[in-house]
Amino acid sequence: LIKIDHVQKQFGKNEVLKDINGTVQKGEVICIIGPSGSGKSTLLRCINQLEQPTAGAVWFAGSDLTKANQQELAKLGESIGMVFQNFNLFPNLTVLDNLTLAPMRVKHLSAADAKQVGMKYLTRVGLAEKANAYPASLSGGQQQRVAIARALSMNPEVMLFDEPTSALDPEMVGEVLQVMQELADEDMTMIVVTHEMGFAKRVADEVWFMDGGYLLEKNTPQALFEHPQEERTQAFINKII
Ligand code: ATP
Ligand code: MG
Repeated sequence: LIKIDHVQKQFGKNEVLKDINGTVQKGEVICIIGPSGSGKSTLLRCINQLEQPTAGAVWFAGSDLTKANQQELAKLGESIGMVFQNFNLFPNLTVLDNLTLAPMRVKHLSAADAKQVGMKYLTRVGLAEKANAYPASLSGGQQQRVAIARALSMNPEVMLFDEPTSALDPEMVGEVLQVMQELADEDMTMIVVTHEMGFAKRVADEVWFMDGGYLLEKNTPQALFEHPQEERTQAFINKII
């Protein structure tokens, strides 16, 4: 579904991604781990074209996103959902309005249809009763579940998560990981930047370790965590477990 093909990204002289290659099959869950500043967020942003790679290509469903025109990009962008560390909900909109905005504006659903879709996904993340609440009145875990429901309401083919639980109080991490695990169980294609090793071990088909702009090592969670090939992978794993 996704092919990352010799992707490089530079900010000025700072080479943040160095020749990244990888493929993601439909239904696969990829977890990306690595130290701060290693380029994990930048790689996600290059995949959904929030950033344009300096070189290389990102193929999605047979199209090279780096060569797509605005119209094609908008279309493809609808197929890629993204969830951020800090939820990024619209604070002045109710929970349900957060979910219906993009389907109405971008997909031109009627208000009634958008509400129906929105309620379907709110129910799925266990928050139907919060439809008319404002984000500020929700806990962090609830806000993040709303953010996931909002991304799902565009009916994406792949979901990208950038450290979705690292801004949460520990007692709320589980409820968000639970929703993500259910998505994975339903064969959603997912790329998840996370330091939740338990989640990665249980759910990931493949774990990618990034360091200093390189994708140093990729393997099944068992192999990567138990028998890392690279010294730097070993050192990182030792530090976080
Ligand atoms: P973290 O775990 O802290 O989130 P990360 O692995 O996600 O780190 P990135 O956010 O991708 O790392 O950043 C990688 C490098 O790119 C950093 O050195 C950062 O300063 C730089 N960088 C990221 N975005 C920009 C930008 N828009 N302009 C300039 N430099 C940037
Ligand atoms: Mg990051």
